[in-house]
Amino acid sequence: MDKKDLPNPEGIKEQKKEISKKSLLYSKTVTCPVCDNIFKAIAVKASSYRITKKDSDFFIRYSLINPYFYDVWICNSCGYVAMKADFNLLRNMEIDLVKKSISPKWRERSYPETYDVNIAIERYKLSLLNYVIINAKSSKKAINCMKIAWMYRLINTPSAKEMELKFLNQALEGLNDAYYSESFPIYGMDKYSIMYLIGELSRRTGHKEDSLIWFSNVITTPNVKQSLKELARDMKDLILEEDKKTEAALLAASNNSINQNSDFQDNTKKSSIFSKFFKRL
Ligand SMILES: [Zn+2]
Repeated sequence: MDKKDLPNPEGIKEQKKEISKKSLLYSKTVTCPVCDNIFKAIAVKASSYRITKKDSDFFIRYSLINPYFYDVWICNSCGYVAMKADFNLLRNMEIDLVKKSISPKWRERSYPETYDVNIAIERYKLSLLNYVIINAKSSKKAINCMKIAWMYRLINTPSAKEMELKFLNQALEGLNDAYYSESFPIYGMDKYSIMYLIGELSRRTGHKEDSLIWFSNVITTPNVKQSLKELARDMKDLILEEDKKTEAALLAASNNSINQNSDFQDNTKKSSIFSKFFKRL
C-alpha cells in the first residue's frame, strides 16, 4: 500500500474543522452603494458567537469563529471596500471619489470560503485605503486602524506586536481628532467610552501621562456609568503599579552598577576626571 493512500488524521481533522466553520456562516446579499452591483458577503450567524474574553481596549475574543474576520465587505466590481457598519453610509461626494480614484485601479480579488487572520488583515487594510482615499471621518479611520491592531494582537509574535503598536498609535491619533471634531455616539460609544478608550490606547502605546489624564477625567466626571469608572480606575492603578516596579528595577540596577564600577573607577584616574567633568556640567 502506498503511503499516500493511508488516512491522514491531521488532514481529516482540518477538513472537519473547515466544514464545521462553514456551518457557522451564511451568505448575505449586499447591494453596492457605488455601482449597484449585487454580491454575496460571508456573514457569521448570530448563534455562532462565543465570547471568551474582553480586553481592556474593548477587543472581544471569540472561540469557534471570529466575527472580526468577516467585518469587511468588498464589492469586486468597483473596488469599494468598507467595514460592514459603514458600507451603506456613503455620501455622494464619496461615491464620486470611489468611482474616480479606486475603480479604475481595482483588480478583482478572490478569497476562500472561510477567512483567517491574515485574510482579515488584508481586507481591513483595503478598507482603510478606501477610507483614506474618500477622506472619511477620523473616527472611521481610527476604528479601522484599531481593528487592524487587534488582528495583529491575535498573531502574537514580536513583529506582529510592532505592527499592533503602529496601528494602535494611528487609532489613538484618529480618536483624539474625532473626540474634538465629531458628534457622539461614535460606533455605538458615548463620549465617556471614547475618553476611556483614548486613555487606554495611550497607556498601551506608552503615553502614560496622557493616559492618566484621560482616566482621571472619566473617574471624576459625574454621571459616567460605574462600570466604566471602575475600568478606568483599574487601568490607572495598573500604570501606577508598573511605575513602582520600574522605579524599583531602576534602583536595583543602579545600585548594582555602582558596586560593579567602584573598582574600575578607583584604578583609573582618567575615568574619575571625566566623571567629575560631566558632573559639573
Ligand atoms: Zn461596487
